[in-house]
Amino acid sequence: MALPKVLLLHTGGTLGMVGRPGPLRPSDFAEQIRERVPELWRIARLDLEIFANVDSSDMSPDLWQGLARRIHERLPKYEGIVVTHGTDTMAYTASALSLMLRGLDKPVVLTGSQRPLGEIRTDARLNLIDAVTAAARGAELPEVVICFDSRLFRGNRARKVSIAEYDAFDSPNLPPLGGLGVEVTIAPHRRRAGPLKLMDRLESRVHTIFAFPGMDPAPHLAWLESGEVRGLVLFAFGAGNFAQVGPHSLLPLFERAHERGIPVLVGSQVPRNAVALPMYESGAAALALGAVGAGDMTPETAVVKMMHALAYGRSAAGVRRILESNVAGERTPGT
Ligand code: ASP
Repeated sequence: MALPKVLLLHTGGTLGMVGRPGPLRPSDFAEQIRERVPELWRIARLDLEIFANVDSSDMSPDLWQGLARRIHERLPKYEGIVVTHGTDTMAYTASALSLMLRGLDKPVVLTGSQRPLGEIRTDARLNLIDAVTAAARGAELPEVVICFDSRLFRGNRARKVSIAEYDAFDSPNLPPLGGLGVEVTIAPHRRRAGPLKLMDRLESRVHTIFAFPGMDPAPHLAWLESGEVRGLVLFAFGAGNFAQVGPHSLLPLFERAHERGIPVLVGSQVPRNAVALPMYESGAAALALGAVGAGDMTPETAVVKMMHALAYGRSAAGVRRILESNVAGERTPGT
């Protein structure tokens, strides 16, 4: 039987870097992968394309859009696509792809590594083998996933949780979508395929605030007044709480954003469970001023979802509706 066809799109990251003991830098990935992991071509008929070769800190909404368009164009010819990517911003790219490639009917599998492919104790070989194996499953896994350390996570639910360990990813509010142990398992809560649609618009003029006790709201008010900000994402405490008395109160930010028609999404600094704005006074006041709770979305997804909602919502109410809804499995309905 013919092997499944898989495309590997390289974007960069540690996996393809060289340079120790100095700072790691991107290198010739195509040559390295053929030499170091030739068995990939025994799992799939694998084509290789270099989309970019950057440290993932240099990924951007423009590159996400280019990547989504490239994937959309190539998908009909393949069972699945692997995207090799730096781990630092992999969760952002996975979230963006999940929102842009709606109704996927095949896997788009992001992977990377903690150590470069050329090193003896590298995790890159196994991650590549697992990612190509997962991509070769085709219609069984119709979504954007992150494959890391033998586990599969929904892309828009995953987060980088470790700088130095090999199990660098987790999805705090959704069990893994599968595992690559002795057997390959895919969980029943994977998404259902829909008609594939490219929705590649993004509005990246998003301002984020990581609240802390005693934070001065004035510089953030100035940002809102600058006319440069189209959407605000506030990472609040606990269930979505923030200071509401005295000079550190953040309520003026919500009032000003409301007056200027700037949508506000309130996420939490706590990784597990969902924001519940009505639970405390500050959150309830934010709700009354038109803010939206981020439910159990990851911070990475909250930021990218704001970019997406701003690009597709035709009015403030439209943006709010998109933020509140679950469009690609990124938030648990009812949160
Ligand atoms: N700085 C690297 C990157 O994200 C880290 C990695 O790939 O693990 O590109």
